Amino acid sequence: MLNERTDTTTDTLVRATAAGGNIRCMAAVTTELVAEATARHGTSDTVAAALGRTLTGTLLLGAGLKEFDRLTVRIEGDGAAGGITAEANARGQVRGYVRNPEADAQLNSGGKFDVRAVVGRSGMFYVTYESGYDIGLYREPYRGSVPLVSGEIGEDFAYYLAKSEQIPSAVMLGVLVRARASGETFIDAAGGLMIQLMPGADEKTVAAVEEAVARTPHTTTLIRAGAGPVEMLRAALGDVPFEVLEERPVSFACSCSYERAVSLISSIEQRELESMLREDRGAAMTCHFCNSTYSIDESSLEEIVSRRVATTVGDAPRD
Ligand code: ZN
Repeated sequence: MLNERTDTTTDTLVRATAAGGNIRCMAAVTTELVAEATARHGTSDTVAAALGRTLTGTLLLGAGLKEFDRLTVRIEGDGAAGGITAEANARGQVRGYVRNPEADAQLNSGGKFDVRAVVGRSGMFYVTYESGYDIGLYREPYRGSVPLVSGEIGEDFAYYLAKSEQIPSAVMLGVLVRARASGETFIDAAGGLMIQLMPGADEKTVAAVEEAVARTPHTTTLIRAGAGPVEMLRAALGDVPFEVLEERPVSFACSCSYERAVSLISSIEQRELESMLREDRGAAMTCHFCNSTYSIDESSLEEIVSRRVATTVGDAPRD
């Protein structure tokens, strides 16, 4: 999977409202960030679609996050991908990984990447909202979970919203992977939209939205035709007027760093550190979320062993 595009577009998320606040709408173009995530993790094309949809869905679900909030979506299916994790924050940053990025499957009967086959047909869909983690004001997280109903991810986000948050929703998530003449594949378009029908929405409007959503082309078709998030919402909402509340850039970003890797290493048992020093003459740590590797050389490791600085792990790379 290559991470290079010539017709560069900027990834954007739009949050909007309709029907006097009774319909919440979000849409995003995520082509660049999905290309970066899939290139970093060396995913198969099918896993690229699965990870891209999950990253996009997590950004959309987290569109209303407040400063210092964090949203994690974890899909634990019984497919070969072995679990997908995505995490978004209020700054429009998302990161994520797949346990087995190289897992793959035959195209499905419709000639499409069989996302369900790599994700799994049964399993669980977990959502965690955390607040204040980055600034040490850790509150009890909100957790929700539902069984996996589809494995195609968009429907699983919709099922989660309906069952766990009691918000009937339409969710469309798309990742278009295409091949160059050389055979190498790339992310040509990625994005999605989410329409949440709050309890106050009147039946006529709900029916109009449902009808428009049903007629909406694939999100990647819209994006390839030049649509941004606002145009995507216009397509999905038909004649129902909406008001854009916020438009902001979104990106793949990870909070790991060399300092955090050192801090994490410092929390390992002394005996283990000494053996790393003796046998490996250093240490290397790879962040699950972005696949960056931090090498801690012999002298730095010696210093850690001799000083055992008491530091908090903070937001260090985690499983
Ligand atoms: Zn990282």
